[in-house]
Amino acid sequence: MTVQHHIPDETLLSYAAGDLDDATSLVVAVHLALCPACREAIDVASDIGGMMLEDLAPVAMSGDALAHVLARTETAAAGERPVPMTTSQSSSPAASFVFPEPLRSRIGGDLDNVKWRRIGPGVQQFVLPCADGASQARLLKIAGGQGVPEHGHTGEEFTLVLAGGFSDGSLAFARGDVEWADPDVVHRPVADDGDGCVCLAVTSGPLQFFDIIGKIAQRVIGI
Ligand SMILES: [Zn+2]
Repeated sequence: MTVQHHIPDETLLSYAAGDLDDATSLVVAVHLALCPACREAIDVASDIGGMMLEDLAPVAMSGDALAHVLARTETAAAGERPVPMTTSQSSSPAASFVFPEPLRSRIGGDLDNVKWRRIGPGVQQFVLPCADGASQARLLKIAGGQGVPEHGHTGEEFTLVLAGGFSDGSLAFARGDVEWADPDVVHRPVADDGDGCVCLAVTSGPLQFFDIIGKIAQRVIGI
């Protein structure tokens, strides 16, 4: 299925420029692995950036600058292509990897290798180690029909579906789709009935919960 919900253009451009923190870079890279449209947009942005650079006067660069840029490009380009995934396939041992690179390397394995920690009714998480503390990255596994309580945001939130799906109001999100939220957004995403949803969530600030369950969960797990 074609990805319907993408990384915002501004974030994509910041990624191409190498301006994102570790966790946000990770969610963009994983989306790129699953989204041909955004990979193409990154290629075009890189080409335009290259043409603009050709028009500039030369400046001194470190010896490994080119290798650095090429490594980034290869990481994005070498990402896996979309894997058809239905909720019924997600638990099949014969299915392809659920986690595309670079996520699989970061976890040290695929979905079966995640050491989940239960954080609420039907919700489990695994917090990913990140190179800096600017944003937090976590995997969330949410049972069918369950969800994170209604919440607002003090920063940006990217929620990328890896398996299954969720809905938020009238919008539906499936593998590869990203829901982006900022401090103007209050929502309550709910995992699809059946096998639920596994997603990668990246937040640049604490969530704001309004009910007592959410507030308790936040105090305990620091989401
Ligand atoms: Zn995309």
